[in-house]
Amino acid sequence: MELKQSVEQFKGQTRLPKLAIPTSYDLYLKLDLTACTFSGTVQVNLNILEHTNKYLVLNALELDVHKVWFTKSNNQTYQPCDVVLDGDDEILVLAFDEMLSPGDGVLGIDFSGALNQQLKGLYRCTYVDGGVKKNMAVTQFQAVDARRCFPCWDEPALKATFKITIDMPSELTALSNMPITNEKLNENIKTVYFEESPIMSTYLVAVVVGVFDHIEETTADGTKVRVYCPVGKCDKGKFALDVAVKALDIFTRYFSTPYPLPKLDMVAVPEFSDAAMENYGLITYRENVLLYDDLLSPADRKQFLTIAVSHEVAHQWFGNLVTMEWWSHLWLNEGFATWVSYMATDIMFPEWKIWTQFLLKTNDGLRMDALEQSHPIEKSLSSYIKRYAGKNAKTDDLWGVLSENSGVELNSMMDAWSKKKGFPVISVKSKDNILEFEQSQFLSSGLGGEGLWIVPITLSIGSYNKCKTFLLETKSGKVDISELVHSPHENSSSVDEKNKEKCDDHFWVKVNTEQSGFYRVNYEDKLAARLKKAIESNCLSAPDKFGILDDTYALCEACKQPLSSLLSLMDVYRKELDFIVLSKLINVCYKVMEIASDAIPAVVNELKQFFIDLLLFSAEKSGWESISGESHLNALLRGEVFLALATFGHNKTHKEAIQLFQTLLNDRNTRLLSADTRKAAFIVVMLNASTTDRNGFESLLKLYREVDTVQEKELVLRCLASCPDPNILLEVLNFMLSDEVRDQDSIYVLFMISSEGREVAWRWLKAPTMSLRIKVFPVVTVSKVSTKANIKTMASDPDPEPQSDPQTPTITDPLTNEFATLNDLTHDLDSLHELATRGSWRSILDKVARARALSFLRKPHEHLTYLAFHVIALSKLRRFADASAELDTLYDLDAAHYLYQTQT
Ligand SMILES: [Zn+2]
Repeated sequence: MELKQSVEQFKGQTRLPKLAIPTSYDLYLKLDLTACTFSGTVQVNLNILEHTNKYLVLNALELDVHKVWFTKSNNQTYQPCDVVLDGDDEILVLAFDEMLSPGDGVLGIDFSGALNQQLKGLYRCTYVDGGVKKNMAVTQFQAVDARRCFPCWDEPALKATFKITIDMPSELTALSNMPITNEKLNENIKTVYFEESPIMSTYLVAVVVGVFDHIEETTADGTKVRVYCPVGKCDKGKFALDVAVKALDIFTRYFSTPYPLPKLDMVAVPEFSDAAMENYGLITYRENVLLYDDLLSPADRKQFLTIAVSHEVAHQWFGNLVTMEWWSHLWLNEGFATWVSYMATDIMFPEWKIWTQFLLKTNDGLRMDALEQSHPIEKSLSSYIKRYAGKNAKTDDLWGVLSENSGVELNSMMDAWSKKKGFPVISVKSKDNILEFEQSQFLSSGLGGEGLWIVPITLSIGSYNKCKTFLLETKSGKVDISELVHSPHENSSSVDEKNKEKCDDHFWVKVNTEQSGFYRVNYEDKLAARLKKAIESNCLSAPDKFGILDDTYALCEACKQPLSSLLSLMDVYRKELDFIVLSKLINVCYKVMEIASDAIPAVVNELKQFFIDLLLFSAEKSGWESISGESHLNALLRGEVFLALATFGHNKTHKEAIQLFQTLLNDRNTRLLSADTRKAAFIVVMLNASTTDRNGFESLLKLYREVDTVQEKELVLRCLASCPDPNILLEVLNFMLSDEVRDQDSIYVLFMISSEGREVAWRWLKAPTMSLRIKVFPVVTVSKVSTKANIKTMASDPDPEPQSDPQTPTITDPLTNEFATLNDLTHDLDSLHELATRGSWRSILDKVARARALSFLRKPHEHLTYLAFHVIALSKLRRFADASAELDTLYDLDAAHYLYQTQT
C-alpha cells in the first residue's frame, strides 16, 4: 500500500525525477530475426543525487524486465524490493528497502521485447533476398522511443556515453553510431562489439542490422563516410555520398569544429517512418530520399536529396554535439539545421539559386536570412557550437551568443518574433508623398490579435536604387518619400499636375524589399494597381514578384482580401518564366482550385481555363523535351508547368502526353519524356483511364512492376489515384493494400486522390474490415504519434453514423484544438510549453492523434488525402469551420464576377 502510494508520486510528471544521473551505458542486445524478438542487458553507470531516497526512476516501454541489480562503488549490492513498469507514463520505478546513499553505482537490468512493425523503437522491416522475404532490424528513437529498446533515462539533456554489443545472425551487417572494434563468430551467431561513443542523448542512439552493399570515401579531414544501399544498387548511392563528403567539409569549416565522430554512415532503410533521422554517426534514410539515378530521377529529387543529406549532416553538430535542452526547443535544432543545409546546398550548387527557393519553403518557419544580412552569423554559430559542445542549450543561449557577436540585444527582439503567435501584417497607404504604415497581428485563421512587433521595414520606390529602411516599433508610422519620388531635376515647380500623375504610375512602392523580412504586406488598391503594372512591365525582382503573390494569397485565404483581387493579380503573371515565381503561381492555382471545388463548384471549369491561360506562355517556352546542358531550374520549371496543365485538363497537353507515354512504353530509355515530365504524362494517362479504356492504367501498373528505382515506383504510385473513374479508383486502392506496395509507400497513393474520387475513397475506407484499417492507419495516419492501444481503439471502434454519437470529437473538441495549436509549433512556444508541462509529450501527441483520427473517420465529406496529411489538414479544417460561411459568400459572388469579366 505504502509502495503503491510512493509509486504514485512519480506518475503524471513531464520529466523524470532528478534522483540519479546516468553517465555511461553498456548495452548488450541479442537479436532473433526469425522469431522477431530481442533480449538484452543494460548496465548504467550512475550518480545518485538525493540524500534520502529509496527509488530509481527511468523510462521503459513495452519491455519485459527480468532481473534488476544495483551495485554501489564500494561493491555493496542492492536488490529492489519492487519493480513497477507503468505503461501510461512509460516509466520503470525501482523501489529499494534501504536508502541509496549519494555517489556512483552501476544499475544492471535484464530485459526482453518484440521487434515491432510500427517503425519506432527497435523495429523489424523486410527485404527480399533471392525472391525470399527476410527480416532486418532498425532503430528509430526520436523523440521518445529509445525506451522501447532498452530501459534508460530517455531525455535529451541526460547525455551519456554508449558502448554497444550485438549478437546476431553471422551473414548480416551490423551498424551503430561508432565503428566496430571486434567481432567474434560462434557457429552462425556473430557478436559485434562497437567502440564507446562520446556523450550523446538517448534519442540519437542507433542500430541497423541487415544486408547491404556499400561505397565509401574519405573527407579532407580523414573522416570515413559510407553509404549503405540495397544489394546491387551502390551506383545509386554515389550522389548522396558525394554530397555528404562535401557537406562535412563545409560544416567543419563553418562551425570551426571538427566532425565529432570517427566515421559517418548513411543507410537506405527499406521501411522508414520519416524521410531521414540524424542519429549520431549513423544517419538513416528512406530509400527514395538517399538513392538517386542520374537518368531516371527527376531534378527535384536531386535537390531534395542534397538538402536532406546536408540537413542531417548539419545535425551532427547542431542537435547532436549541441543538443536542445528539452523538446520545446526542438525548433532550434530544426530551424538551424534547415538554414545551414540551404547554405551548404548554395555552396555546392550556386546555379540552383536555393536561397530564392528557400522563400517557397519558409512562409511559416524560421527566416534566418534576414538576420544574416545584419549580423556576423557565422562567427556566432561557431562560438555557440564551441561553447555548448557536448552539452545542451536553450533558445536564449543562442540569442545570447548572437547578441555578443553582433552587439545587438537580440533576446527581447527575438522573443517577440519566436514566442508570439503568427506574425505582423503591415497595411500600407499613400497620401501625397507620405506612406502610412500600420501593423496588426496576422493569423491564418483570419482572426486578429493584439500582438505588436518591432518590424524592420524596407521599401523600394520605382527602382531598386531608391530604397528606405526604418524600424516600425509602434502600431503605426509615417514616412515621407518626397525625396525618393522626385529625382533632383524633376523636383522643380514647373512639373504640372498631369505630368506628375503620369510619373506616379511608375512610382510603384514595394515594401519588404526582396522579401527579407518576416511579415506580410497589405497594400491599398492604388498601390496594388501600380505594383501590378510593375510586374507586367517586368520591373520587379523574382523574390518581390513572389512576395506580392504570396502575401495576397495569404490575405485572401484569411478573408482579408477578396478572391477577385487575387485572380486579377495572377492575371499579370502570364509572361513569367522565373521558376520560383511560377512555382508560387501554380501553387496558388492548386489552392484556389481546392477551395473552389468545395465552395463554388459552378465556376471550377472557368477557373481551370483561366489557370491554363496563365501557363501557356511558359509551357511553350520550355517544351516537353529536356535540353542538354540546360539549367536545373529550367528542368524544375518544365515539370511543374506541364503537371499543372495536365491537372487542369489542357487538351493539347493531354494529347501530347499520351503520345509521349506511348513512346516511353516502346523505349524505356527515351529522352523525349524526361524524368521531370513523366509525372505530368502519368497523370494524363490516369485522368483518361476508364472502365471501358483500361489500357493506359494497365500499362502504368506494368511499368510500376518492371522499373527498378524507388523514385520511379514512387512516381507511379503518386499518379494512380488521380483517376476519376470510381471502379479504377477502387482497384487502385486495393492495389495499394496489396503486397506489391510497401506500407510506408501507401501514403503516395492517397496523396493524389482526385476530388471526383473522394466519395468513393471515403466509402471504401469506411466499409471494409478492421484489418484493412489497421494496415492503412498505423502507417499513414498516426505513424509516429500513436501507440498500439490507440490503433486498437480505432480499429475496434464501431462505425456510427456521422454526428449520431454525442462523444464524437468535432472540430471544437479541445484535443483537436490542442493539435491545431501544435501546428503552430514554431510560432507558439508558450502554448507548446504549456502542453508539455500538462502531461508527457508522448501522451499529448497520442491523445491528439486519436481524437484527430476519430474525427476524420467520422467526417465523410473531407478529403481522404487529409487523413494522410493530418498535420496540414486540421488547421485547414478549423479554418473552414470558422470561416466557412464567410468564405462561401466571398468566393462565390466575387470569383464568379471576376471570371465573368475576364471571359467577356
Ligand atoms: Zn532535422
